[in-house]
Amino acid sequence: MGISGGNFFVAETGSVVVVTNEGNATLTTTLPRVHVAISGIEKIVPTLEDVATLMRLLPRSATGQSISNYVDILTGIKGEGEFNGAEHMYFILVDAGRSGVLAGELKEALRCIRCGACMNHCPVYQNVGGHSYGWVYPGPIGSVLTPAYIGIENALDLPQASTLCNQCGVVCPVKIPLPDLLRKLREQQFERDLRPWYERAGLRAWSWLAVRPALYALATRMAVRLLSWMGGRERLIHRLPLGGGWTDARDMPAPAGKTFRELAGERQKNRGER
Ligand code: SF4
Repeated sequence: MGISGGNFFVAETGSVVVVTNEGNATLTTTLPRVHVAISGIEKIVPTLEDVATLMRLLPRSATGQSISNYVDILTGIKGEGEFNGAEHMYFILVDAGRSGVLAGELKEALRCIRCGACMNHCPVYQNVGGHSYGWVYPGPIGSVLTPAYIGIENALDLPQASTLCNQCGVVCPVKIPLPDLLRKLREQQFERDLRPWYERAGLRAWSWLAVRPALYALATRMAVRLLSWMGGRERLIHRLPLGGGWTDARDMPAPAGKTFRELAGERQKNRGER
């Protein structure tokens, strides 16, 4: 028995479309006697013409190719006298929370065609890598889908794993407004009081400080100097008291010993002198 995924299931013809660059799916779907195709319910598209449209987007956004090396459109079992193909074919459509997502405010995330463009362009993903996201889907779309499927209380940090710079929203070929969806998840966390007490207390302290510019400048000047000193000669911080999450799995690069405002001020001054 060969088990494959399916990039698209076509309602019009009962076909499964499998896209690869390695040909592994072609082997799996044609050699064994039984072929089982598994995919989420959101992968069903109405017609082959829709597949043609989506196939113009998928490889271009994923790997920059105009077409993948292998695109298999498999419709039914092999005919009489045919050498290749399965004798039995089964489709498994997975819901696993998708109907709930479709009924909620994150439904646009179900348009995803898994091209990976959002993660390849995400500055957070580029720095932390895929495993840090802790579940099946990494990157910005993972930060939306994971809380949507397993519950936001089980993926508390993922909506925060974004600068909301909108690189992901710009490159997404199916125009999923990823920063908006991440913001909605943050709102849900806030409304349900899910953020930890120390984070809320920290933010309250920060907002008190932020409206007192002189005190803010003094506090940030002291903080960056302390962090810079902690970096030592290596310029790496191995352990950060009260911020262990930043150094649990890797060292944190030490910041410059000056605040952004100090550096910007110096640059302006230098320009004026030149
Ligand atoms: S969200 Fe958009 S850019 Fe990201 S993988 Fe899905 S289709 Fe591609």
